[in-house]
Amino acid sequence: MTASVTTGRRRRAVVVGAGYGGLAAAIRLRAAGLDVTVLERDARPGGRAGRIERDGFAFDTGPSVLTMPRLLADLFALGGEDLADHLELIRLDPAYRATFHDGSVLRVRGDVEAMREEVAEVCGPDEAERFTRLAARLRELYLAEYDSFIDNNFDSPLALAKPQAAARLIRLGGFRRVYPLVESFLTDWRLIRMFTFQSMYAGMSPYEALGIYAVIAYMDAIEGVYSAKGGVHAASVALAGLAERMGVELRMSTPVAEIEVAGGRAIAARTADGERVPFDVVVLNPDLPVAYRDLLPPEATPRRVKRLTYSPSCVVVHLGLDRKVPDAAHHNIHFARDFQASFDDILAGRMQRDPSWFLTVPTHSDPDLAPPGGDVGFWLLPTPNLEGDPIDWDAQAPRELERAQAELERAGYGPIAEATVASEVVTPADWARQGMAAGTPFAASHHFRQTGPFRPANVAPKVRGVVFAGSSTTPGVGVPMVLISGKLAAERALAQVGQEELAP
Ligand SMILES: Cc1cc2nc3c(=O)[nH]c(=O)nc-3n(C[C@H](O)[C@H](O)[C@H](O)COP(=O)(O)OP(=O)(O)OC[C@H]3O[C@@H](n4cnc5c(N)ncnc54)[C@H](O)[C@@H]3O)c2cc1C
Repeated sequence: MTASVTTGRRRRAVVVGAGYGGLAAAIRLRAAGLDVTVLERDARPGGRAGRIERDGFAFDTGPSVLTMPRLLADLFALGGEDLADHLELIRLDPAYRATFHDGSVLRVRGDVEAMREEVAEVCGPDEAERFTRLAARLRELYLAEYDSFIDNNFDSPLALAKPQAAARLIRLGGFRRVYPLVESFLTDWRLIRMFTFQSMYAGMSPYEALGIYAVIAYMDAIEGVYSAKGGVHAASVALAGLAERMGVELRMSTPVAEIEVAGGRAIAARTADGERVPFDVVVLNPDLPVAYRDLLPPEATPRRVKRLTYSPSCVVVHLGLDRKVPDAAHHNIHFARDFQASFDDILAGRMQRDPSWFLTVPTHSDPDLAPPGGDVGFWLLPTPNLEGDPIDWDAQAPRELERAQAELERAGYGPIAEATVASEVVTPADWARQGMAAGTPFAASHHFRQTGPFRPANVAPKVRGVVFAGSSTTPGVGVPMVLISGKLAAERALAQVGQEELAP
């Protein structure tokens, strides 16, 4: 049943923001029969998954680990299209190349059988057996969580306590901590690090993150990691194209300054140019605390949103290199000697004293992202967010470029400083200027009180007609979760306009 059949008038949704969350919501609302307009501040879609072009180099500004591409395919299916006709996905093998302080190297193969062989070769056949058992457990945990915990709109925290799903999650170790859960299967310290470090994506140390977050390792290290021809940003361009072909009106370079509220209901978006765009329901994709702060009346902000705690942040150094980086895979992780101390430092609001860091070389899979013979390097250093030690990030930025070059040279990637012909440094201060609360692109942290039904709700409790999509609401951070948040937001938005049906 479409909105027009239900009410005699087509309902109109406005989506503020064309990040993955906003685009997914827009596509689903359009598929359900609503008129949909997306108002996006920037000239390009993708939000955090943006792109900087400089001197012939194309830098992805955000995600490089693309997982669960079926969530993108589901959206294309809603438009009667095939994802493969619009985006060339590249499965990465290895998914990651991990280097440890003792010089040993482990490749994560992103496929259980291939990974089993790698473990057998590097850690021995007994560990390979144990790895197989861990992979099976993570899969079970993932399946148990998906419908009950991830792809689910919670109406109250009690929703978690009710179903048998919770009992199943407890049995599978979902409420233990990630590190001891993984350690109860594996014995090789390198493998344990490889299957636990992902908690950092959710803003936690694996020593404190709940076992349910071990599924992040499942999603990437076992289900497979992808990139895309044209970089991960290309996926958001593909989604924006799909939205337009489905009839969504996509208005770029159109920042929204305010959501107009009358009689407790949101009724229109006001753009920075003063234009009024009326709607029946609005989906807000900017970072949730910032959307409350900047777009809605002050009294709309729930108390708990003011008290949120945030994930650590990062410095990203984009490098345009005039030569190839030797021995690099697409994703390279360099672990510090003291694994736990890295997390302790960042979570205590300090810079890591002995840093773990990531190097992504997207040109490994798509050479066209750099001029011939060159490479793109994306160096990511986890750091505290702006609620940690006070750091003058603008003054610090040039030093971060030098730090990146020095770490890369020390790690054996060749004369990086000499090879750098283009660069860009992005710090927590820049993330804050881009509208991310606490200067982190990794959203509100996912500790227990901010997880599942306890995460900031995707409906505004005090203003009718306002729904949120994105990484600070349910289910959480990362491209797959945010695509699901778009689906959950579309369900909420349809309920707000009195329509229950959402295409599958
Ligand atoms: C450096 C980095 C590395 C990452 N690595 C990974 C990874 O490897 N894998 C992974 O899965 N995830 C990764 N992530 C996280 C992932 O990118 C995010 O979780 C996800 O892209 C967030 O999407 P979103 O839709 O919530 O928000 P956004 O992408 O931030 O979208 C919000 C949109 O709203 C727009 N907007 C804001 N204010 C307004 C306004 N007033 N008016 C109109 N429009 C507005 C913004 O311009 C933006 O387009 C990474 C992020 C970063 C930054």
